[in-house]
Amino acid sequence: MAGVWIFAENLQQTAELLSIGSDLASKLMTTTSAFLIGNTDSADDCIAFGADEIMELPALAGDQPLDAYIPVIVAEAQTADPDVFLIAATVRGKDIAARLAARLKTGLCSDCIGVTFDEGNNVLEMDRLAYGGAAIQKVACMTRPVMATIPPGTYKPAPQQSGRQGTIRELQAPQPSPSTVLERRPKETQVKDITESRIVVCAGRGIERKEDLSLVQELATALGGEIGCTRPISEEAHWLPEELCIGLSGISVKPDLYIGLGVSGQVQHVTGIRDAKVICAVNKDENAPLFGAADYGIVGDLYDVVPKLIEAVKKAKA
Ligand SMILES: Cc1cc2nc3c(=O)[nH]c(=O)nc-3n(C[C@H](O)[C@H](O)[C@H](O)COP(=O)(O)OP(=O)(O)OC[C@H]3O[C@@H](n4cnc5c(N)ncnc54)[C@H](O)[C@@H]3O)c2cc1C
Repeated sequence: MAGVWIFAENLQQTAELLSIGSDLASKLMTTTSAFLIGNTDSADDCIAFGADEIMELPALAGDQPLDAYIPVIVAEAQTADPDVFLIAATVRGKDIAARLAARLKTGLCSDCIGVTFDEGNNVLEMDRLAYGGAAIQKVACMTRPVMATIPPGTYKPAPQQSGRQGTIRELQAPQPSPSTVLERRPKETQVKDITESRIVVCAGRGIERKEDLSLVQELATALGGEIGCTRPISEEAHWLPEELCIGLSGISVKPDLYIGLGVSGQVQHVTGIRDAKVICAVNKDENAPLFGAADYGIVGDLYDVVPKLIEAVKKAKA
């Protein structure tokens, strides 16, 4: 047996991985199998998204970490010998992927932004960002299974096909995890998640004083959007929380509209806005790199430009 295997924590992530998984499976002329955690309701959905086989992991008793599943998954992989194993690059997914790769004695390519099959050389190639996002590294793994973690949102969910048939198999219940959860606490943050916001207005170091962030917020509010920032604003000045830092070491956003105010556009920042549909830049330096990535640009002092933009938006909405 072989196949393309998928492990994710929820249906959305599974559907995204099935998008690339099904594509690879058809090129490798094999099947797709997806693990599902204790939720039989989603099995038919996963099959409609492209899974040929569902491997149901029984729900864990009590408050156990997901690593309890590792021995069960390893046993399945040792029997079935999959070609490829794709795992959602969440915090838990990355943890599980590393442990699985070690136990299966194979390599693991983390945070891949693409996986392709090079038919000429009969090898799978994985792309990941390198040098702070300035370059794309191509990685090939010569051991089986080829394992990769892929960040959620990298691929669109596979389209659902009604009437698809697949098999559903319940796996053995895992032994209790050797780790014990002592306490679970929600992350303390009052910051809105802007990764799904349609409009993001980003504050860069061109903002001179903390109180001037109100100007950025006012434009965001007028447009019905949210505020984000570059790393110097969150990490150096501590004017905004790190959850709002966009870029390589922060979050990636994919809004319909991104407006960078006083943002130079270094590659580590632009990496986080590569999926924005429309990028606008306001910068007093006409050579600012962000203009190279922007669809629209205004060369000017943001302290002159932004009040005019706010006025224009309010007028247009009136
Ligand atoms: C490993 C690594 C990871 C990193 N990760 C991130 C990351 O995740 N996110 C991130 O943002 N950065 C990241 N950085 C930092 C990144 O390289 C840049 O330093 C940072 O993005 C620059 O932020 P900025 O554009 O706000 O500031 P600057 O580069 O200082 O640019 C300020 C801009 O404002 C313009 N300006 C000044 N005054 C005005 C005004 N009155 N009106 C209009 N324009 C004005 C200037 O012309 C300039 O272009 C990382 C760096 C490293 C090495």
